[in-house]
Amino acid sequence: TDALVLALMAMSVGAGDAVFVPDYTFFATAEAPAFLGATPVFVDIDPDTYNMSPASLEKCISQVKAAGKLQPKAVIPVDLFGLPADYRAISAIAKAHGLLVLEDAAQGFGGNMDGKRACSFGDIAATSFFPAKPLGCYGDGGALFTNDDTYAGKLRSLRVHGKGKDVYDNIGIGTNSRLDTLQAAILCVKLDAFASYELDAVQRIAERYTGLLNGTVKTPVIPEGYLSSWAQYCVVFDTNEKREQAKARMEQNGVPYRWYYLPLSMQKAFLTEADTPVAKDMSKRMLALPMSPYLTNEDMDHVCECIV
Ligand SMILES: *Cc1c(COP(=O)(O)O)cnc(C)c1O
Repeated sequence: TDALVLALMAMSVGAGDAVFVPDYTFFATAEAPAFLGATPVFVDIDPDTYNMSPASLEKCISQVKAAGKLQPKAVIPVDLFGLPADYRAISAIAKAHGLLVLEDAAQGFGGNMDGKRACSFGDIAATSFFPAKPLGCYGDGGALFTNDDTYAGKLRSLRVHGKGKDVYDNIGIGTNSRLDTLQAAILCVKLDAFASYELDAVQRIAERYTGLLNGTVKTPVIPEGYLSSWAQYCVVFDTNEKREQAKARMEQNGVPYRWYYLPLSMQKAFLTEADTPVAKDMSKRMLALPMSPYLTNEDMDHVCECIV
């Protein structure tokens, strides 16, 4: 969350700016621009990848321009559940409309598109090391990525109270967003495990889930040229009723689950009209199954018995 806020600060996003975010994501994606006084504009998602829909983005940009109240400033595509967003289309749209691109790779770390790693898309990328993410520390942590030296300089200053030469020389207003040394030490060890076998293990686990569930629920769609880091393995039921029945069976059998997400436009903090029918539909039918590189075949069989 701090990484998203810092990136938007470096991009000088503030009051009067429209920032385009998917309606179907964790709250922080829209909280960050709102925190800085900007207005999040909620974009619908693709029914197969659950990532931001480029067609809906085009439509939202046109609407904001026609209304003439806000300045379209930036777009925050999210690499939802570990799958990079459609940067092929979104980068072109952003370029055509002069929008900055901030990749929310909180769930995307380890993913890949066309041979490029997640966290390398857009002008700046942000990731999270919260324990539930692909690479987790033992508390809160995150990172920023950019190839732009000007942004890099600004971010290094902003994350330590707007420091100049050192922390007692302050050239701007920033935040206290250093990564704790203890968390960094844990991440050094866990990054090795992530790169050397965990990322491979989750590919095998996702494949096995998909095989077991074939024909019962809609399983994740990974488009050609993409690799997911499987932050979540989410399935979609035909109806809300079937999803609720599966939740009840999982509870009875001691299988943990999560359902994602109440669309941001429907959250009390934002509550606004948004033309996002796919996001609203998915939120009723989606279910996240247990996912970790350390799941055994027995674990997975047990989970799938609740679904079938
Ligand atoms: C988890 C998450 C965040 C926030 O990360 P924190 O480290 O918890 O602040 C932001 N965006 C998305 C898409 C997330 O899943």
